[in-house]
Amino acid sequence: MNDDTIALRADGLYKVFGRHADEAVIRLHQGTPRDQLGHGTTAAVIDASFEVRRGEIFVVMGLSGSGKSTLIRMLNGLHEATAGTVEIGGERITDIAPKRLREIRRQRVSMVFQHFALLPHRTVLDNVAYGLEIQGVAKAEREAKAREVTQIVGLAGWEDKLPGQLSGGMQQRVGLARALTADTDVLLMDEAFSALDPLIRREMQEQLLDLQATLGKTIIFITHDLNEAMFLGDRIAVMRDGRIVQVGTPEEILTDPANEYVEQFVQDVDRTRVLTAESVMRKPRAVVHPTAGARGALQVMRDEQLSAVYVTQRDRTLIGWVSDRDALDAVRRGERSLERIVRPDHGAVAHDTPLAELFIPALEAQLPLGVTDARGRLVGVVPRVTLLATLGGEPEADAQASPRPDPLPAAVVDRALEAAVDSGALETKEAI
Ligand code: ADP
Ligand code: MG
Repeated sequence: MNDDTIALRADGLYKVFGRHADEAVIRLHQGTPRDQLGHGTTAAVIDASFEVRRGEIFVVMGLSGSGKSTLIRMLNGLHEATAGTVEIGGERITDIAPKRLREIRRQRVSMVFQHFALLPHRTVLDNVAYGLEIQGVAKAEREAKAREVTQIVGLAGWEDKLPGQLSGGMQQRVGLARALTADTDVLLMDEAFSALDPLIRREMQEQLLDLQATLGKTIIFITHDLNEAMFLGDRIAVMRDGRIVQVGTPEEILTDPANEYVEQFVQDVDRTRVLTAESVMRKPRAVVHPTAGARGALQVMRDEQLSAVYVTQRDRTLIGWVSDRDALDAVRRGERSLERIVRPDHGAVAHDTPLAELFIPALEAQLPLGVTDARGRLVGVVPRVTLLATLGGEPEADAQASPRPDPLPAAVVDRALEAAVDSGALETKEAI
């Protein structure tokens, strides 16, 4: 079946190195553990099946030796699969004639390696144009294309330098430019940034995301670095001992690891970059509709021990918030409506805001930080305690750091409500 949204599909892929490879596949399939295949037989990839969507960055993550490079090399036919199939753009590339495979490799998949594999005696421009050169593209045409891509990756002005005159980060940009010049739909990147210094590495990761956004390539990116995987991946496949043990979004991998191995792997990740407001938010407790009036708002605050509540429409569209002091004053004045005391500066954040960007809004908010969906509806709140808990912080520290006023004592609220009833401003003080 040809599905336009799928750029690449792997189905039941195996790669066994060494003796009796085909027999090993059968034994693995029957459940023989990988380490009992016998001396001289290595099962590098075992029964890998997954689909990569068009325009997606699909990360394959795992420790060294888990089979990542072997897997990616089967995806462009650099390694022949021992069993299973690979399809690119709906066309099978396993078990096809070498000539057709070479064509597909040129037209559909290009690859960037960890060690730049640049030609040392050729200029940056020639290196970038190299892929087109071996395709037989005329000099003028390939140089024009190479110049354009060199500029895209931020190397304008360096066209005539030799690789040795460039820093590691710049050399890797040349490698990336070379792969991009081929203008294939699918880009395979095997530990492409692993040799770079952390700062340059982050810069390259950001640039890759930018390129991805503008060029819309399908990227399969291999890394052993979880933070890199989380930063880049739309989805991540976690490999262990030749097997894919989980495929999911960064958030799914973090919040719902398939097994202990994945769980241990994700322990050290910087959660604040991956998790979003949505993943830690709680159900909002203190919410009133405009019809509740000042009295209703005050009672909810009293019951929930809060110094403020959110005000939303019936369809949960967030209007603003009301403080207990304002509500109390309104009740004392005999005002029923919330209209005059609703403050519009609710400070709520969008549901997909990363945790790292929640701390300042949370400190400034008078209430547990509100979270809204794309339509402006209040879908949750993030209490500061929750935010600190995700960092392993102490709830006590939150209380101390809090600039938020303590809620009014219940007795004060009760007395005010009673006084309001006595004065005739309210009919009863029954909870709404
Ligand atoms: P990774 O890229 O995750 O570090 P690799 O795919 O390079 O893992 O290696 C997976 C396993 O396959 C390792 O045990 C490795 O020693 C073995 N292996 C890789 N390439 C070969 C090969 N050409 N011949 C024999 N064994 C290999
Ligand atoms: Mg590798």
